[in-house]
Amino acid sequence: MKKLLLPSAWLLASLCPAPAATRINIASFSTILTEIAEKVGGDHVTVFALVKPGVDPHEYEPTPSDLKRVSDAQLILTSGKHLENYLNKLQEASGGKAELLKVGDLLPSLTMKAEEGSSGMTLDPHWWNSVTNVEQATRVVRDELSRLDPADKADFAKNAEAYLAQLDDLNRWVKRKVAELPRDKRKLVTSHDAFQYFAREYGFSISAIEGVSTETEPSNRHVAELIDRIRKEGVKAIFTESTLNPKVTKEITRETGAKVGGVLDVDGLGTVEASTYEGMVRHNVSTIVDALK
Ligand SMILES: [Zn+2]
Repeated sequence: MKKLLLPSAWLLASLCPAPAATRINIASFSTILTEIAEKVGGDHVTVFALVKPGVDPHEYEPTPSDLKRVSDAQLILTSGKHLENYLNKLQEASGGKAELLKVGDLLPSLTMKAEEGSSGMTLDPHWWNSVTNVEQATRVVRDELSRLDPADKADFAKNAEAYLAQLDDLNRWVKRKVAELPRDKRKLVTSHDAFQYFAREYGFSISAIEGVSTETEPSNRHVAELIDRIRKEGVKAIFTESTLNPKVTKEITRETGAKVGGVLDVDGLGTVEASTYEGMVRHNVSTIVDALK
């Protein structure tokens, strides 16, 4: 058998002289992971961004053409921590051909109330609002790409190192910026509860106007409690997202005298200044610190 196989293998190799042109197809369901995969993968990957910048990942559902991309992919990247409720659709579309990597599942977890008023707890999916977590996610993606394409391991290592250096600089900047705020002013009131990982890392306390997801409307009781708390603690500003009902914001600012400190990009990359991860973090942190000072 061996003698028979050798010439055909040789023939095959001489007919296909361009292995360098093969790229890993990646289907990404997180704007943050799209950036990481592009930075680390460089020329060795093609990344299909299926959750696009500015799209609310809590409400996204894959379209048939998104699922077609999944069927062509060797690697599927998701945020994990139960953010995606359509994983079975992805697995079905891929037919077991792709590796499904739930990156957030490999990072430390915080929990949060599943729903306002309920006692059930769920994993908090918003790991990307801590720069340290994004650094860890970069290492996870680097290791996975190296496993799928060992020949290009050195390139993935080099690319990851450069991106990690940028994230290190960013994290140092965040810490310097936050240090402008005295500890007793680090009180963050945001639209939905997306800043636990941020608060833990940079020493803030948090209250959310909505719950875990952008899909729930706050109850009157919850808003009343929040107004009470803002008054008592002398919180100077609250922060919104484009998805929040403006009536609620108006009620809170009218009742407490707190101002609207700005609009934050909390669920992933957006457009303009938040079109890169660094831009998103700089925008959020500057907005928060400058309004609470
Ligand atoms: Zn969110």
